[in-house]
Amino acid sequence: MTFQDLKLIEPIKKALQEEGYTTPTPIQSKAIPVILETKDLLGCAQTGTGKTAAFAIPMLQLLHENPVGKFERSRIRALILTPTRELAIQIGESFAAYGRYTRVRHTVIFGGVGQKPQTDALAKGVDVLIATPGRLLDLINQGFIKLNQLEFFVLDEADRMLDMGFVHDVKKVIKLLPGKRQSLFFSATMPPAIVTLAGTILRNPVKVEV
Ligand code: AMP
Repeated sequence: MTFQDLKLIEPIKKALQEEGYTTPTPIQSKAIPVILETKDLLGCAQTGTGKTAAFAIPMLQLLHENPVGKFERSRIRALILTPTRELAIQIGESFAAYGRYTRVRHTVIFGGVGQKPQTDALAKGVDVLIATPGRLLDLINQGFIKLNQLEFFVLDEADRMLDMGFVHDVKKVIKLLPGKRQSLFFSATMPPAIVTLAGTILRNPVKVEV
């Protein structure tokens, strides 16, 4: 299979070509069609499998193809929750690379640094917010972020999130999400606590394993 077989739009095909990507990885060829059909996904995949592009590419496509009106441009359309600052930055770089010819705007927020540049970026309007849990809740509590109009929710590295003690933070975030949304859940391992958490987030998910 090539990226040509995946029904991707021209702005994304062009960016992937420039990245030098020709062949989708196994998680990409399985997950991209499912996500483009707007289904929920439970993905069992580790870092290094191409998991980030597996969700970033179809999300960019759906967001680009369904732009919002000019009075709605201040609402956040997609949230990607990830456990560490390094992962958040990497995901941000992926959205920048694959989305460079789309009109989708993204920003990254994480703790341990001043919040002013982050709240300034949010004030300009973003479609995709990539966040670590602590700083996200902090900015929600201060009124800088509203998630009630979200269309996409991604929980990345769910097992690591639990190992790092973020389970309560994640549950708080989930309570703030609208019921009608597309959710994607990724974990390298699927112990019972993860399966239970996935069950509270996903609706009739397609399971993809690599
Ligand atoms: P990830 O598993 O998302 O951390 O991605 C691992 C690395 O593989 C990243 O450096 C990506 O840029 C690269 N990558 C992802 N998908 C592809 C692909 N289809 N072809 C070539 N490289 C890729």
